[in-house]
Amino acid sequence: MIIVFKPHATEQDIDHVTDRLRELGLRTQISLGEERTIIGVIGDERILQGEPLSIFPGVESVTPILAPWKLVSREFQPHDSIIDVCGVTIGGRRLAIMAGPCAVEKLEVTVEIAHAVKAAGSTILRGGAYKPRTSPYSFQGLGREGLDYLLAAKEQTGLPVVSEILDPRDIDVFLEKADVIQVGARNMQNFELLKEVGAYDKPVLLKRGLSATVKEFLLSAEYILSRGNRNVMLCERGIRTFETHYRNTLDLSAVPSLKELTHLPVIVDPSHATGRWSLVAPMAKAAIAAGADGLLIEVHSNPECAMCDGEESLKPSRFNNLMIDLKKVAEAVGREL
Ligand code: PEP
Ligand code: MN
Repeated sequence: MIIVFKPHATEQDIDHVTDRLRELGLRTQISLGEERTIIGVIGDERILQGEPLSIFPGVESVTPILAPWKLVSREFQPHDSIIDVCGVTIGGRRLAIMAGPCAVEKLEVTVEIAHAVKAAGSTILRGGAYKPRTSPYSFQGLGREGLDYLLAAKEQTGLPVVSEILDPRDIDVFLEKADVIQVGARNMQNFELLKEVGAYDKPVLLKRGLSATVKEFLLSAEYILSRGNRNVMLCERGIRTFETHYRNTLDLSAVPSLKELTHLPVIVDPSHATGRWSLVAPMAKAAIAAGADGLLIEVHSNPECAMCDGEESLKPSRFNNLMIDLKKVAEAVGREL
């Protein structure tokens, strides 16, 4: 349920309603719009039957949210969420480009790639320190040491870093060393992990599960917001279909659909979506044309020798050319790069 206040409702009016809701054992989340304040009610709303909230002073309307998600919905917050990551904004007019290796490898390689993606215009450095590999015999990542290499690259380039968490027990190290915590596709429905990252205000990049519907994706984001963390961005990274010619099928329809349904920023990862470097640039351009707020792209200075996902990684020169093309696409759709 959402409670919309009149434009001139006072702080007292709002407190009066929130106090009553809390008395009834319900939780609330407030959205302060430019013109109006909206309260989202969380909990078993059956308790509100017969409660005359609509006649409380300052209240304009009380509306049930029909979608199964609430806090992530456009009904709850009509304006786009803009997330601040160390001064880099995600969700506004300017596009966010997160680029870097699939896995953090040697320190020098990480720093070299960070300089290259920054020079091309990337605003955030990506890199996996804990890798969720399909085979237990594949490279599992450098762990905490990998996060330290990302930090070193951040110190040299000024680029904030995004890295994937696999285990809720690592939350403290991620809070300390990462600027955005990535929850990967395989963990989209790891509800304990979602609750853990929801308990802080550190930005979270939530990737769509391999076979997750848009509804399941939004409900996973709702887990994070319902714990208090509103700094969530969604990432479409391709879904499993019958098609095996490429690694996954990039569901571009999800981009405008999500933009209709939610106020959260939508990022597209054309690297994991296609699994082939030659397909990354066309799909990256298509994603921006479709309304994505940013991209997550794998870049490696020597893809042939990469420890992970070399086949989908762009060389810095190709990434640079893509960024030049993306500027034109961005301009055509009223965005900035
Ligand atoms: C990644 O971004 O490194 C990754 C493992 O992606 P996904 O969770 O989308 O497979
Ligand atoms: Mn990868």
